[in-house]
Amino acid sequence: MKEKNLPMSTVQRVLKKNGIEVVFYIDRIRFYTDTRTHKNNLAGVINSNEKNNLQFKSLSKHIYLDKKINLFQPTKETLLELANNDILSGDYAITYIEFAVDFLVKNKKSRNTLSDFFDKHLFNQRSVKKNSATSKFHFKYGNDCKKKKYCKEKNNTDSDKESNCICKTRYFTPPKDKIRMAVYSDKRTKTKSKKYCVHIEKRIVGLKAIKKNNIYTFQNIVDFNHSEFWSTNLDLRKPNLSALGRLNSFKRKKTKKGADGKRGKNEWNKFNVLQEYLRDHPHSSSAFKKVDTEKKFEGLLKNFFK
Ligand SMILES: [Zn+2]
Repeated sequence: MKEKNLPMSTVQRVLKKNGIEVVFYIDRIRFYTDTRTHKNNLAGVINSNEKNNLQFKSLSKHIYLDKKINLFQPTKETLLELANNDILSGDYAITYIEFAVDFLVKNKKSRNTLSDFFDKHLFNQRSVKKNSATSKFHFKYGNDCKKKKYCKEKNNTDSDKESNCICKTRYFTPPKDKIRMAVYSDKRTKTKSKKYCVHIEKRIVGLKAIKKNNIYTFQNIVDFNHSEFWSTNLDLRKPNLSALGRLNSFKRKKTKKGADGKRGKNEWNKFNVLQEYLRDHPHSSSAFKKVDTEKKFEGLLKNFFK
């Protein structure tokens, strides 16, 4: 049976009560055009953000697509311009998109709390090929602790144990995957409010993976339903403590439900980052169930925002 998703509109409503605002946007797009689109036609689009760029480089196996364009945080206006035919005259191919969601908070304290919340409940299962040796659960910190004022690692005496500092990027998938997820909270939002935020992004790489998401044209991007996308992709999990205890029992024989629950609770309290735990204990994954109701989501959030 397919599990139900918690609608993003519900997530937004609940977070709003805690002063957290949600914004969806496209963080980056890469596309290629053929010779029928002259470079000058793209000037306006390129100039709309100083990070944007255009290179004369062909898409492999599609030599006629000879210009490679990178756009950063394209606005709705830019996307609409590209969707209209005046700029892109010939063929084009979208080969990379980053979908982002920023959870905007009022202050650093709220940012830290929300980051801890996502660390503890955010789940991402990779689709790996059958019989593949790779794990379904990947997790890696992107950088070393920057030893800032708010850092957890600053006072960490056990140097072998990594902390879930705010300053680190969390990678939920290895860089070679066609669909990747990353989370970070150490930068202000790139959207207009410039507030502190927790930033979650899903990167879709390559024509095939993008088409699988029903994106063929810029019009598809203009019409893209971000809320629906994140209802599926923001997968929050809550443990069934008895199941978690049972899966981590040292003894083979069956134990009483109460004992399992207690062991499960110990197990749950042992870690800060669910995805990191699953990387090391993939056998426990079935104990984590989708947060699929407003009540469950509110309950979990209350443990953090007191
Ligand atoms: Zn740090």
